[in-house]
Amino acid sequence: SEKLATRDPEIAEAMEKELHRQQTEIELIASENIVSAAVMEAQGGVMTNKYAEGYPGRRYYGGCDYVDIAETLAIERAKELFACGFANVQPNSGSQANQGVFTALLQPGDTILGMSLDAGGHLTHGAKPNQSGKWFNAVQYGVRREDAQIDYDQIAALTAEHQPKMIIAGGSAIPRHIDFARIREIADTVGAYLLADVAHFAGLIAAGVYPSPFPHAHVVTTTTHKTLRGPRGGMILTDDEAIAKKVNSAIFPGIQGGPLMHVIAAKAVAFREALQPNFKLYQEQVVKNAQALAEELMKGGLDIVTGGTDCHVMLVDLRPKGVKGNATEEALGRANITCNKNGIPFDPEKPMVTSGIRLGSPAGTTRGFAEDEFRQIARWIVEVTDGLAANGPDGNGTVEAKVKAEVEALCAKFPIYPDL
Ligand code: PLP
Repeated sequence: SEKLATRDPEIAEAMEKELHRQQTEIELIASENIVSAAVMEAQGGVMTNKYAEGYPGRRYYGGCDYVDIAETLAIERAKELFACGFANVQPNSGSQANQGVFTALLQPGDTILGMSLDAGGHLTHGAKPNQSGKWFNAVQYGVRREDAQIDYDQIAALTAEHQPKMIIAGGSAIPRHIDFARIREIADTVGAYLLADVAHFAGLIAAGVYPSPFPHAHVVTTTTHKTLRGPRGGMILTDDEAIAKKVNSAIFPGIQGGPLMHVIAAKAVAFREALQPNFKLYQEQVVKNAQALAEELMKGGLDIVTGGTDCHVMLVDLRPKGVKGNATEEALGRANITCNKNGIPFDPEKPMVTSGIRLGSPAGTTRGFAEDEFRQIARWIVEVTDGLAANGPDGNGTVEAKVKAEVEALCAKFPIYPDL
């Protein structure tokens, strides 16, 4: 039999356990979501067999008629979602989307200005251990000490001083709206490109509940698997025809070979879902839920960096309870609540310890949680952190077991993938 369970029982078992984990845990990792069965069906389909170097209608392989249909639909739907003139849907990941833009518009050694990782930026925006930090002269901006918001004055000052060829807006832990217009004004003072990496906000932007980077950004990158709720992957968007041409050659043959056509088919399915009216309601609920979660956590004595959120993500400052990010991530994990430790701006702790956790509402909202459920989740988080505060890193086992049982009961009321 070619069934997975007989052909490869070890992988089948790992997948079964992962399904069970997702079904019975509350997913608060801000960069994750729960794709539809239709998206998974497309991604698990026959297009995985196909080589299709090139672009629709201009391939280096025969037999591309049907993958061309899939890629063309993905491109057209992406353009409609983001109201822009060009989309390249081939990047295999968000990192490769950024790498593609760099390859298109920069030379090694050029100066780039991006947000630093510890302030909420992404590795690919010029962090030292990343290729972007090794091959470019990467200058980094951060947030203001007084309110933890993006320091636009610092962006302006660093731009005047270093004359970057590209400024990157966006990041992985930015809870407040980014002022793309303001960063574009700064970029224009030195003729720099503005790249907006909206990986985290793409779904919100598509639904009109977060400001669009267009028309301010010259080029936009995103992942497709976060708020956008598609398969793991990346995408590049622009309204500039000259940049579009360079981006296409940068992705193929610049940095990639055969595109993942099964993933591109799944991207098309997700974009179609995102064009439906209920996607806007979903994204509105994502924001309401994140705000309810933040409010209730503050009531429970935790701090939220910037005092709240305008989107799907927040950074919880654990210092009022005297507990660390790593211990909190583990204790919440024991209670079936999944999140990640995350440095807060100017964090005195090391990156493997941290004073914070990052929480997001996209996955929970997909499974049907609304404000009441997110307030309940906040109260569970407070119970577990209070247990840590009172008992040290091992936490309070009784409280954690009680919360775990309650979490499992809530998850059972909001099932996911009932047919798998
Ligand atoms: N850009 C931002 C802002 C991100 O948050 C991420 C993912 O965490 C990426 C890029 C990279 O995406 P990937 O993990 O698909 O390479």
